[in-house]
Amino acid sequence: MTTPSPAERPTDSAIADPLVDRFDRVHRSLRISVTDRCNLRCFYCMPEIGAEFAPRATLLTFEEIRRIADVLASRCGIRDVRLTGGEPLVRKDLPRLVEMLASIDALDDLSLTTNGILLEQFAEPLRRAGLKRLNISIDTLDEVNFQKVSRRSGINQVIRGIDAAIATGFETIKLNTTAVKGVTESEIISLVQFAIERNVQIRFIEFMPLDTDRCWRTENVLSGETIGAMIERAFGPLVPVPPPVASQPATDFRLPGGQSIGLIQSVTKPFCDACDRIRLTADGAIRNCLFSQQEFSIRELLRRGLRDDELVDQFRRAVAAKAAGHGIDDGDFSPPERPMYSIGG
Ligand code: SAM
Ligand code: SF4
Repeated sequence: MTTPSPAERPTDSAIADPLVDRFDRVHRSLRISVTDRCNLRCFYCMPEIGAEFAPRATLLTFEEIRRIADVLASRCGIRDVRLTGGEPLVRKDLPRLVEMLASIDALDDLSLTTNGILLEQFAEPLRRAGLKRLNISIDTLDEVNFQKVSRRSGINQVIRGIDAAIATGFETIKLNTTAVKGVTESEIISLVQFAIERNVQIRFIEFMPLDTDRCWRTENVLSGETIGAMIERAFGPLVPVPPPVASQPATDFRLPGGQSIGLIQSVTKPFCDACDRIRLTADGAIRNCLFSQQEFSIRELLRRGLRDDELVDQFRRAVAAKAAGHGIDDGDFSPPERPMYSIGG
């Protein structure tokens, strides 16, 4: 199993004033968390009980979110928006936000990451509203394991959600499995088989130190290398596929039957040097990295009449402060104060 070399970056000549950091990384991708609430309690993300949520009045409104996306797309060359959370589908009226974002001409792509629990009901309305691509998280096919991981029930609901999304016909649907040692090994082959049967890509994501319970340890990381070797033993050699864009976090491979799979090796093979992402939390803070210790709240500024050029300046300030890498391997690494569900994964 070898790693393909990334494709060339597209040119930036058409963008008037892109968001470029100290390491020459051009930011084109905006991740927007629409809520920190969730209908599951995955152990690698949330606490089982006592999760703390942002007061509702602090959540950015749909109008505020649309304005930010529009300004960044038209002035700074942000080209894709991904909605996430928490669980984005628990935010009331989400298809209305999707419709508002889909009307921004300068955006090329609009996607969403979901745990799939409410997808059976929302697949059609989301597609109709203009959502192009979906990532659906699925860590197990077994209800007992599902309850161990998510501390809620519902694997059949997730599978029905995946099938409803496939039937609806999005441009791309990808499955995401967060892989944890001692939890995921026994599921890898059946999950790959599940994806093959549905002709969708499955990607395995390494466990990162972003859990509220602080249970992450290096020893709990099930590496992409190990997962790849397990898949090769069951299905045959994995052939590397060059990424369509350098900033893609997954390394893609093809199985002998042609099926595509991805490994997101955020811990063992960080892809920070090609990162083009900037994040907005549900309560209106700009974060330049999942692991950043610093954030730039714009909510109150927005509500006090921040002009468009000042809004861009806030993003520029955040991008300028971006570190070279996440530093998980550094001796003095400490995880960010906000856990995954509160940042927006
Ligand atoms: N609730 C939605 C979901 O689960 O798909 C969207 C938000 S969730 C934070 C986004 C993705 O982050 C999910 O695929 C989830 O499995 C992954 N994730 C959460 N905590 C993680 C961690 N500590 N390490 C790696 N991935 C994690
Ligand atoms: Fe909820 Fe997604 Fe976090 Fe699981 S990973 S607790 S589904 S936000």
